[in-house]
Amino acid sequence: MTKLRTTKPALPYGRSLSMNILVINCGSSSVKYQLLDSLQEAIITEGTIELTPEVGAVVAVQQALKDTHSETIDAVGHRVVHGGDTFRDAVFINSEVKEKIQEWASLAPLHNPPALLGIAAAQAVLPDIPHVAVFDTAFHATLPRRASHYAIDTALAEKHRIRRYGFHGTSHQFVAQEAARYLGRPLNELRLITLHLGNGASACAVEMGSSTETSMGMTPLEGLVMGSRSGDIDAGVIFKLLRDEVNDVNALDDLLNLHSGLKGLSGLSNDVREIEAAAASGHDGARLSIAVFAHRVRKYIGAYAAAMGGVDAVIVTGGIGENSVSLRQRILQRLEFLGLQVDEDSNQCASVDHRNKVALITTENSRVPALVVKTNEELMIARQTAGLIRQQAQLKTDLSIPIAVSARHLHLDKGTFALLFGDDAEPTHHADLSQPGQFACKEKVTLVGPRNSIEGVRLLGPLRSKNQIEVSRSDEYLLGVDAPVRDSGRVKGSAPITLTGPKGSVRLNEGLICARRHIHMHPDDAQRFGVKNKDEVEVAITGGPRDLIFCDVLVRVSPGYRLEMHIDTDEANAAELDRKASGELVYTDIEGPSANIKGLKTSNQN
Ligand code: ADP
Repeated sequence: MTKLRTTKPALPYGRSLSMNILVINCGSSSVKYQLLDSLQEAIITEGTIELTPEVGAVVAVQQALKDTHSETIDAVGHRVVHGGDTFRDAVFINSEVKEKIQEWASLAPLHNPPALLGIAAAQAVLPDIPHVAVFDTAFHATLPRRASHYAIDTALAEKHRIRRYGFHGTSHQFVAQEAARYLGRPLNELRLITLHLGNGASACAVEMGSSTETSMGMTPLEGLVMGSRSGDIDAGVIFKLLRDEVNDVNALDDLLNLHSGLKGLSGLSNDVREIEAAAASGHDGARLSIAVFAHRVRKYIGAYAAAMGGVDAVIVTGGIGENSVSLRQRILQRLEFLGLQVDEDSNQCASVDHRNKVALITTENSRVPALVVKTNEELMIARQTAGLIRQQAQLKTDLSIPIAVSARHLHLDKGTFALLFGDDAEPTHHADLSQPGQFACKEKVTLVGPRNSIEGVRLLGPLRSKNQIEVSRSDEYLLGVDAPVRDSGRVKGSAPITLTGPKGSVRLNEGLICARRHIHMHPDDAQRFGVKNKDEVEVAITGGPRDLIFCDVLVRVSPGYRLEMHIDTDEANAAELDRKASGELVYTDIEGPSANIKGLKTSNQN
């Protein structure tokens, strides 16, 4: 039996629960795409199409849609680099959203325009499915103003929207969540430093799940040393170069974005693999570039530990962070004063991939763990796309479950019925019950226990193949018996009880149970709620005088059932339920240990 905090159903009524989400990353030089199954979180198809003068963004996206069989796609998640301070979360793309993305293009001229082309091309082919924009900047929307402001004239800054926005947010958020999951601690209790070290590189202080500092600023040029970007630089250097070296701003832009960083320092390449090989054979530029790169990252670790007043874990990711043993060693050495001690063997052996996402590279005694985490921005974009669609579906879907309170009652087999009510008797219909075909009978019996008897216990029809007497825990105390909590129908080895009817008494060796709380569901309901037969779920009762969550609620699915949760009188009293009460399934998001309990919208109507 699966016990779960249910994840909310992915799609509205009638559609499959798992979604195929196409993630499109339409950049300046290539279009990368991945088709993912949102439930399995598995890649179905992926590819990269390089852009050329003949193959522009539109043609490339059309090709990607062809490669992924567009008819199988349920939704598209588009990576958008710059959302400025307009977008704090992923959004469904409409014309207003596209206008806003266009507005931010002036701060991301290489990134936002191709993303818009990609969106238009995908929407033209797939106009009827949701398209969602996921922004690199969104995770940093929580930067406090002390971290988002440059120390320049505020009116000027506002006029030109000059502030620190931060990038790589999808990656920082993903690895922070994975780290929390690995450490078995809620993300909202942790102070993490995440280091995304790829061709582009940035550091982030993730405090209680939110970004509170990050090294990239208004553009991805600020901060760490990168493949070909300078990172932090004295603005005076820019004046000097403009005056004495380059002729115009665009040339300077190219110099700092395309010909600096590891490439500029080493004079060789932006690729750490080549640089490390050259450094090993004595190349001074290569050695210098490695030293400056690692030093800059270390400086940021110290700064962010100070900014957060401590650090609980350091996480490295990106092509360099995931692969370069020696750079990890250089970056994380001599951090014992922070409580972080690298284990050289673990660092040497650390290997991460999409299956084994996390490797610990610190010693057992290290108070602060360092983790290598495999980033997966595409998966994060797919998750956010699916999450948004799920949210929308839930707003449209009524997820409440009517609750029926079962008073003590019994089901009898033919023989026992005859012994209690006479050979010729038949159960007499008294009233229909909510489950189709079930009815309350006029016949009642007395339960005779060692301590007391309970009279007037009603028979439910039709007759069954096994006797089953359902009482509450309070009834058990009264009777002086100890009955097990059982699913309906599982009476073997349950408690004995004596029954007395108008025509005689019967001593049953088994049959007395305390019924396990359960929900009857039609298969359509099960699909709507995202559960299956025999799942165990949690149901919240809110809005009444004594709210509570019922755990261990068994789901029972059958085409013959009508949606209804059954609890006994003790349980109803504990929640002070009225007759027309309803509950709601408790869902958690799938993102990990920090996931909040959601869905407590239940009402205790009346
Ligand atoms: P991007 O920022 O373009 O997504 P990646 O995160 O893929 O970049 O990182 C690419 C960089 O990772 C390469 O340029 C290279 O410097 C580095 N890298 C990749 N593999 C290795 C390796 N095995 N050893 C050292 N560095 C590596």
